[in-house]
Amino acid sequence: MNWETVIGLEVHVQVNTNTKAFCGCSTAFGAEPNTQTCPVCLGMPGQLPVLNMEVARKSVLTGLAINATINLESKFDRKNYFYPDLPKGYQISQFPLPIVEHGYLDIPVADGEKRIGITRIHIEEDAGKSMHEGLDGVSHIDLNRSGVPLMEIVSEPDMRSADEAVAYLKQLHQLVRFLDVSGADMEKGQFRCDANVSVRRFGEALGTRAELKNLNSFRFIKQAIDYEVARQIELIEDGGQVVQETRLFDSAKGESRSMRSKEEAHDYRYFPEPDLPPLRISQEEVDGIRAGMPELPGQLRERFESEFGLSSYDADVLSQTLDLAGWYESLVAAHPSDPKRCANWMANELLGRLKEQGKDIADSPVSAQDLAGLLDRIADNTISGKIAKDVLDAMMATGESADAVIESKGLKQVSDSGAIDTLILQIMADNPGQLEQFRAGKDKLFGFFVGQVMKASKGQANPGMVNQRLQDLLKG
Ligand code: ADP
Ligand code: MG
Ligand code: ZN
Repeated sequence: MNWETVIGLEVHVQVNTNTKAFCGCSTAFGAEPNTQTCPVCLGMPGQLPVLNMEVARKSVLTGLAINATINLESKFDRKNYFYPDLPKGYQISQFPLPIVEHGYLDIPVADGEKRIGITRIHIEEDAGKSMHEGLDGVSHIDLNRSGVPLMEIVSEPDMRSADEAVAYLKQLHQLVRFLDVSGADMEKGQFRCDANVSVRRFGEALGTRAELKNLNSFRFIKQAIDYEVARQIELIEDGGQVVQETRLFDSAKGESRSMRSKEEAHDYRYFPEPDLPPLRISQEEVDGIRAGMPELPGQLRERFESEFGLSSYDADVLSQTLDLAGWYESLVAAHPSDPKRCANWMANELLGRLKEQGKDIADSPVSAQDLAGLLDRIADNTISGKIAKDVLDAMMATGESADAVIESKGLKQVSDSGAIDTLILQIMADNPGQLEQFRAGKDKLFGFFVGQVMKASKGQANPGMVNQRLQDLLKG
């Protein structure tokens, strides 16, 4: 119980530019191996890199969104190491003077918010990919990814649990997508996390850390950190010492194993990149980027609360992604009379059904227009809210409009007082005992009659009208 966990995260975010960081090759995902390469990203001698300024612009935008300092002059360095997927033998990166420094993110924690420091964001280039599977014991190299731009976002060691680390990552993931600086698709490797984990007894100095690699889902990140914390505590309690090393998480086994002892910065023989001039940005350019900053998740959530009167819960659910927020705004545009009804039906009914089918809002078989059509029929009393849920089920299954489903299934709400009176009189005739007791003063039986009438109408009687007519007719 007297152990404290300390976590710092390094996140590699692929910047979603059309062309690579230092050459004109396409960054499109999934092309035939080695079809998106040129002498620069193949590492041919004598080829000169030229920075894609879109990478700098998107890094500045990200820096502004985390309230960081933008360095108007930053520098590129060579990080040297040998690996088959790195044809130049070095990676262009930024070491002593990155483009962004000293920012932070506020993350949600159990008792409010916690501020996590972000040490730096630097620009670098991705390596290629080694392919080993299904190749009869040989390995191939695909250099399409070689030179694709990355932002490495390095946090302070400010997180104290796996849950905080996951909360930070989710916040960062959401942010880069809102900013449109990255697709951040974890399955495509566009958002990759290394977790530095150490433990210490409360009050002690920082312990020795292990760096966990290969964490490609939020669930694995939590598993890997929890496993690592338990491993380190057990090791120290048994009299051992944590060694600084890189460990690879095996998601199938739920364990990590040592990959290599941790390299230090000097192992990389960082030195200034002689082929690239310093990266200079003017204050005017930074101000222009700030002026074009899109609405961020927190601002969107607040606007949904103030403009549409949503609960903080609904506002939060509907501002999770730009897709969700855009869909909700289309729904309100099509059913403007009741934004809260829109939120309620979208957040609870539609998203619930989509989740069961494992679908995203983008794949919803019911469009915002069609859901608005359903809400219109509730608003004008054509159907009750209860029947509307069945109509939505049918719409999800068939892709038909609400009106088409209501028509074909004969679900129109009965609001004709003559028809409702007929139903009520029949129920009264069928239940003489209850009627007598009610008239003798047993008021509670009112609900019994409402229930019977609704049941007899298969839920289609207008409930307000049933109430009103029962009040008259039961009195006798
Ligand atoms: P490197 O570049 O060699 O990985 P850094 O000093 O840049 O080393 O740190 C990388 C990450 O490790 C940062 O996110 C930092 O917050 C985190 N970190 C540093 N020391 C510790 C520690 N003792 N425990 C947990 N995380 C740490
Ligand atoms: Mg590192
Ligand atoms: Zn190229």
